[in-house]
Amino acid sequence: MKIAVLTSGGDSAGMNAVVRAVVRGGILKGCQVWVVREGYEGLVRGNTEAPEPEPAPPAFPDLPPETDGDINLIHNLRFGDGQLLRDGTGDYISGRTLKGRYIVRVGWDDVRGWFSEGGTLIGSARSKAFRTPEGRLAAAYNLIKEGIDALVVCGGDGSLTGADIFRAEWPNLVAKLLSESIITKEQATAHTHLKIVGLVGSIDNDMSMTDLTIGAVTALHRICEAIDNINSTAASHSRAFVLEVMGRHCGWLALLAGVSGGADFIFIPERPPDTESWEDEMCECIQRHREVGKRKTIVIVAEGALDKFLNPIKADYVKDVLTERLGLDTRVTTLGHTQRGGRPCAFDRILPTIQGVEAVQALMEATPDTPSYMIGIQENKITRVPLVDAVAMTRSVADAIEAKEFDKAMSLRDPEFRESLEGFMAISTLDHKTKTIPETKRMRVAIMHMGAPAGGMNAATRAAARWCLRYGHVPIAIHNGFRGLLDDHIHELSWLGVDSWTARGGSELGTNRTLPSIDLGAVASKFQQHSFSALLMIGGFEAFSSLLILEEGRKHYPALHIPLVHLPATISNNVPVTEYSLGSDTSLNALVDACDAIKQSASASRNRVFVVETQGGKCGYIAIMGALATGASLVYTPEHGIGLDTLRRDVRFLKTRYTLDEKGRAEGRLVIRNEAASEVYTTDVIMKMFKEEGGSLFDSRAASLGHTLQGGIPSPMDRSRAARLSLKCMSFIERQHEILMNQPPKTRHALPGSAAVITVQASSIQLMPVQDMVGQADMKNRRGRNPWWLGMKDLVEALVGRPQLATKL
Ligand code: ATP
Repeated sequence: MKIAVLTSGGDSAGMNAVVRAVVRGGILKGCQVWVVREGYEGLVRGNTEAPEPEPAPPAFPDLPPETDGDINLIHNLRFGDGQLLRDGTGDYISGRTLKGRYIVRVGWDDVRGWFSEGGTLIGSARSKAFRTPEGRLAAAYNLIKEGIDALVVCGGDGSLTGADIFRAEWPNLVAKLLSESIITKEQATAHTHLKIVGLVGSIDNDMSMTDLTIGAVTALHRICEAIDNINSTAASHSRAFVLEVMGRHCGWLALLAGVSGGADFIFIPERPPDTESWEDEMCECIQRHREVGKRKTIVIVAEGALDKFLNPIKADYVKDVLTERLGLDTRVTTLGHTQRGGRPCAFDRILPTIQGVEAVQALMEATPDTPSYMIGIQENKITRVPLVDAVAMTRSVADAIEAKEFDKAMSLRDPEFRESLEGFMAISTLDHKTKTIPETKRMRVAIMHMGAPAGGMNAATRAAARWCLRYGHVPIAIHNGFRGLLDDHIHELSWLGVDSWTARGGSELGTNRTLPSIDLGAVASKFQQHSFSALLMIGGFEAFSSLLILEEGRKHYPALHIPLVHLPATISNNVPVTEYSLGSDTSLNALVDACDAIKQSASASRNRVFVVETQGGKCGYIAIMGALATGASLVYTPEHGIGLDTLRRDVRFLKTRYTLDEKGRAEGRLVIRNEAASEVYTTDVIMKMFKEEGGSLFDSRAASLGHTLQGGIPSPMDRSRAARLSLKCMSFIERQHEILMNQPPKTRHALPGSAAVITVQASSIQLMPVQDMVGQADMKNRRGRNPWWLGMKDLVEALVGRPQLATKL
């Protein structure tokens, strides 16, 4: 198959990772791959110049004749050196001029190092010509001329609409080209069908049928960095800030920034304030916050925010309202294009990589009868949805807004969007009129952090505490885990007290690893003494173990017959069943930052392999996903172990790889090793082995990331998920409490299901009874069995060509 990949519409972080994954994933499947420069405009313009002859690959030493099948790969490995990226002009690729050439065949090394670059290195454009039938006819001809039969389009809803139109029109375009004798009959027969797959690259996250678009999370990072910076100055001067963020038709960035940044009020297009005067509503809300002692005010306005009559709500006007009505010293900050720019965050390297490979797979499986797919993601599951449906549904959101059908607009957004909005309302408003519940239903909810600190623990606590206060419950912080409980180290949380916790790293409550088995009787008596109605434990494997102990302890201690919930939070992501723990995203971002810097230093002077050691205990999640996010050459995990045979092949791979590199340019490579991957082959041993074996080809150094992986400031994704998952835990607790309260007090008996862990499994979030999870827990190694990410090691290695190259030389 001959595949072309293009990026279109507004650029977004992660588009380069898409191109890298499609190029390498395609080559691995035996395809030839082209990049189309400047989006659809490049398709329309095509190639007016013949390509310069490819440089002949230098003779490869000792290539065994039976490896014919791999020669394509080897050839491609030698093809190109990423000049497109490095010269920054976009006019050269692999040292060859691109003048007059928009559809360019690329090879393996052309996309090396593209991970860490923002924007799109192959260029993007908004093409007027492609909107016309003549333009699309030219595009079809240019593809057929190159023999290309499959297209991957990465862009926003407009670009995918264009793709959908192009696909639908294709047979007519081919017929027209044939009737006008522009193409031959053979060409027409060979191109009866164009295979298209869409990937959503857009910072707005405005595409329906996918939870996240490529680049949206990086944009959210930029916004949250700005809010965090503004927060300190706003508090210092007791100021109000109105922030305008991108999002013409979609309020996702404004909403998630509101949740993650702890804003006071937000304006989004899908859900305008439901009152005649939003000015009154906003002022009342902010006035209340000020009355309880808040010194800073943050209001976030989406670029396309509207009132219920469809009048635009603009940041400057919001500022005037705050200044005039509340007398606040108010400033406006428009973030503009800074939101687009910058290095992609870990998520925007992993998502496009997996989706890019999936796009190639979808093309391989496509037949004239299968629909063109858009590759999406739902919670943690990569999905394929018909492109036409996604495009139609996206359009219907805009139509619903235009028709003032805001409920419908909201219903067309994904569940995360809706839940985040409900969550934002629940935790950001401090309202006299909030729904309070009868005395009998009120709870004293204990909240505890366990194990090592992880990003998002504080945000989860803030959300739980505010939810409690909103509904008339009492949130009680237990400091320093079960040890703190035994010392009565507890206090009630207040609305203002937790205000700035979203952005705080570490653990505001203090945490330790002591399990309740230290003295279960004493723990139960403390539950009774403090009249806890429920317990929320936020932590890692210790919290999971504690939950099991407490659940079993119910046989002996009536005080433990209360809802008991564990919200997984650990950078190791080693809690069984769940695919996601709070803190793991923050940690991956810390790893990506460190590795980008290390790789740069490794490439600066000479060929160098850096062996980077990560935390994670006996769980290789951070190592594997970190390797995927940084384009590491090799990864060692406790699950796979390390043996002499593996090391021998790895040394062979590195030698071959360095032999194939362009001479005269230093190249740094990363090897990521989990701290517990092997007791014998330590990071130091591996580094020395590589150094010795590398000889004149490459040198080696080691670096241990240690506690830096706990990350300083939590990532926006950890903050927003913390709020969302925490609120789901609280609803669960409330339901379970109600069931218990319906029983006679003396014989109150909590069912096993009321001791649960909140889990993310593929596309669903479930509170799973802890007893049901035991079978899937490897208690000795403190990790889950068969986690979803284990197979990603193969992908890491496939995308650097390790399986092929390790057998050469
Ligand atoms: P962003 O979300 O960043 O705005 P987008 O993909 O939605 O990205 P658009 O400008 O809407 O950006 O579309 C990009 C390109 O896709 C257009 O310049 C045009 O070439 C093509 N395109 C969009 N809509 C259509 C259409 N209806 N028919 C043909 N081509 C289209």
